[in-house]
Amino acid sequence: MLERSRSQAAFERAQRVLPGGVNSPARAFEAVGGNPLVIESGSGARIRDIDGNEYIDLVLSWGPLIRGHAHPAVLAELQQAAARGTSFGAPCEAETRLAELVVERVPSVELVRFVNSGTEATMSAVRLARGVTGRDAILKFAGCWHGHADSFLIAAGSSALSLGTPDSPGVPSDFARHTLVAPYNDAEAVAALLAKHEVAAVIVEPVAGNMGCIPPAEGFLEALRALCDRHGSCLIFDEVITGFRVAPGGAQERYGVEPDLTTLGKTIGGGLPVGAFGGGRKWMENISPLGMRVSQAGTLSGNPLAMAAGHATLADLVAADYTRLEAIGAQLAEGLKEAPVPVQVQRVGSMMTLFFSDVPVLDLETSSASDGKRFATWHRAMLERGVYLPPSPFEAFFVSLAHTPEDIDAILAAHREAVGELA
Ligand SMILES: *Cc1c(COP(=O)(O)O)cnc(C)c1O
Repeated sequence: MLERSRSQAAFERAQRVLPGGVNSPARAFEAVGGNPLVIESGSGARIRDIDGNEYIDLVLSWGPLIRGHAHPAVLAELQQAAARGTSFGAPCEAETRLAELVVERVPSVELVRFVNSGTEATMSAVRLARGVTGRDAILKFAGCWHGHADSFLIAAGSSALSLGTPDSPGVPSDFARHTLVAPYNDAEAVAALLAKHEVAAVIVEPVAGNMGCIPPAEGFLEALRALCDRHGSCLIFDEVITGFRVAPGGAQERYGVEPDLTTLGKTIGGGLPVGAFGGGRKWMENISPLGMRVSQAGTLSGNPLAMAAGHATLADLVAADYTRLEAIGAQLAEGLKEAPVPVQVQRVGSMMTLFFSDVPVLDLETSSASDGKRFATWHRAMLERGVYLPPSPFEAFFVSLAHTPEDIDAILAAHREAVGELA
């Protein structure tokens, strides 16, 4: 057993002033039991809790840290930016530099607006789609998570799933009725809904990450593209996880399907709070102060520190880095498949999930049918052996460029012992 007395005391103290002791429910350990770790520091592929225990980190702040914790190049740019002042609320060159990088890499994006979180990005993209199309309804997929704006808290994934509240109290039913829901990977259901309703936008995680990692079925994204074209709906790829992660230009590059609007977050900020939405001029030239002046604003948007961290994280990534992420991801996924109980390890590049399931996971129904008790046992056993995983069976985990083949060997050695406890 690892020593956790300081973490325990710190978490109890936190619970007296923070609801549940956390600032995001995904961090709670309800689905796996025990208390969250209280983190002191991170370096490369490792984090350390305040009791001094070290863990190989497969959460990476839920994805952003594609180069690992406290990367020297990122820290250097951040320090230089901070010395010049932390915020101006006026244009700065750092935001144009990061915007140029986004436009260069993400195939469908010609103009981009920075915001401060993924939630803001999806919320704003949907408003833009509604403004331009003049329609109210949107279509999302069961188990996909697009942040916590009202329109998306219908059959939502991520923490809503692990805490068993896919439909949140507090969302007015008048809002909820504008959100249509289809099963993931089911293009026929989408076709039927779009034929019946006037839909402003279809929003999708092009690789689902928030009910565990579920790749798009062959032809699914292409079908969404064709259906949106036929019915005049805006296709939004929510690439908050997949952007810069599954390929330099995200899932739209990897699968060769271009959405109308793209939402970004997580990796784009390199560990600072950043989101973004972008797309073709036809759409983006209607956001305020342009065109139809669809409203969107943010005091700290394009913040120079956040822009510097994002740029420092992404600018030097080259094709060879993605080849390495792919190889490290494959090494981990192959090793995780070895278990005495049925498992499905589903991976796209450096994002993956181990499901305790005897059938491939294609949608929310098959994801929910996986064995959560086995996951909780495995999670605890891995944590005891120094491997930090997301505390829920409905999340993706990640490797970074800081993870070495030796780190993966150490994770797999822990895994062989941990799954032994399940047999
Ligand atoms: C994390 C996430 C969001 C929300 O981003 P926040 O920064 O947490 O608001 C939106 N969409 C997807 C696909 C995500 O994974």
